[in-house]
Formats: sequence, C-alpha cells, structure tokens
Amino acid sequence: MTLEELREDALVCTSCGLAERRRNVVFGEGDPHAPLVLVGEGPGEEEDKTGRPFVGRAGKMLDQALADNGLSRDDVYICNTLKCRACEWNGDRARNRPPAIEEIATCRQWLVPQLKAIAPRVILCIGAPSAKNLIRPDFRITRERGQYFPCEFAKVAIATLHPAYVLRQQSMSHDGGYSLIVSDIGRAWGCAQKLLEKAGV
Ligand code: URA
Repeated sequence: MTLEELREDALVCTSCGLAERRRNVVFGEGDPHAPLVLVGEGPGEEEDKTGRPFVGRAGKMLDQALADNGLSRDDVYICNTLKCRACEWNGDRARNRPPAIEEIATCRQWLVPQLKAIAPRVILCIGAPSAKNLIRPDFRITRERGQYFPCEFAKVAIATLHPAYVLRQQSMSHDGGYSLIVSDIGRAWGCAQKLLEKAGV
C-alpha cells in the first residue's frame, strides 16, 4: 500500500473513541523519501483544526529548531504517534491530555505502515510517548534523549524533548531545554546523512 492510499484509509478511521469528536485526522506531511522522520505525540487544537502536524505554538518552536540547523519542514517527514487529538471534554470545552496506552496501540495500525513506507534512516521521537512507543516502553526522556538506539523501523532512533514541555519550562533566564532540541535534531540529521553516505546514496 502506498503512503497516499494509507492516508486515505486513515482519514476515515473509526477504530477508537477519538474519532467521535475530531475535526481532522492529522496523518503527517513532508518528504516521503526523507532520511529523517520526526514522530511527535499527537495533534493539539491547531492541528485538529487544520489537519497538519505541528502548526501550533510547539510547532513554531520545532520550525525554529529545524531552521537553527539550516533545515526546513520540507527536508524531513513529520507525523505523530496518534493521528487524532486526545482531549478531555468539559461540555464544549476541550483540554489536551496525554494519549492513553490503548489509543497508542490502536493507532500503530497507521504509524507502523507509514514508517515502513517511508523507511527512513533515522527516526527522531519527539517527547516521551513517542520514544516509549518506538524505542522502549520504559524509556526515560530526560536521561536518554540525544542518544542512539536501535529501532525496528529505521537504522537508528533518537529522542528529544517535546517543544510543549520546553515551552512550559522556559523563563527569562532559562531556555527550558530548547538548545537540547536543536542539538538533538542536529545529531539526528547528521546521523542520517552519514548513513546515506555509507550506503552510497
Ligand atoms: N504536539 C505534537 O506532538 N504533535 C503535533 O502535531 C502538535 C503538537
């Protein structure tokens, strides 16, 4: 199945309760032949509204961290662990919540073939849920970010802090971990380039 066929199927998915109140399935976007795939946690409000990954405040930070490495979204492929927004409802008001383990397991029906279709050299997991899903269930993001790990869907996986976490940590005197995201993206991209060279691509 091609990535486009997979997207078409994912757009009408009703495999879990998140389908009931979503506005859009956020499948993913970017270069389908990219050597580096970024896998986040799941859509927030802006992503649910637009159907595009990482377009809210966290996304602006991710764009900046890519730009600080001389990269743009077009150089990579960006998707999420969950394709639909996970939130708690209070009447008509929604608040983002972390993905549930069962939701992550159910949504692997899209993420796994998506990663297999792209077959990237390197996967950068953005945030703990993504790293736990793709690297190891007991992954510790603050201790193990920036290191190289084996992965079923790429030659190497690396994890970094989630920009939403960094936004919460930032203060006048502290970058909240932004520089770590920049350096982890740099390591992930450098590793992907080296693997391409080694393969003679
Ligand atoms: N956070 C994520 O993990 N993914 C998005 O697409 C947006 C915010």
